[in-house]
Amino acid sequence: MYLSRNWYFMQTAAITPDAQGVAFSDAVKGRLIRFVSSHEVGHTLALPCNMGSSIAYPVGSLRSASFTKKYHTTPSIMDYARFNHIVQPRDEEEALTPDIGICYPMGL
Ligand SMILES: [Zn+2]
Repeated sequence: MYLSRNWYFMQTAAITPDAQGVAFSDAVKGRLIRFVSSHEVGHTLALPCNMGSSIAYPVGSLRSASFTKKYHTTPSIMDYARFNHIVQPRDEEEALTPDIGICYPMGL
């Protein structure tokens, strides 16, 4: 939790009040735990870290609220992508946290 809290702070505090305090809300903690535990459950299912799926998304698409709400911030939760640090303060509310992506189980 400490590590994911620090990542979230360092990568998103410039654009979200959720990451600007010393203590995070339970909702934010829940999103961080979901992110990490989803990735780790993938390992228990024998999925390796995917160090490259995030290259499938153009960097500019991470500033699009409609794109990130539909496709999240990376195609695979097994990628080593972190939080959406591409978003700028005046952008709409984009997804900030990686989630289970579109690659599994469809194999796209
Ligand atoms: Zn991993």
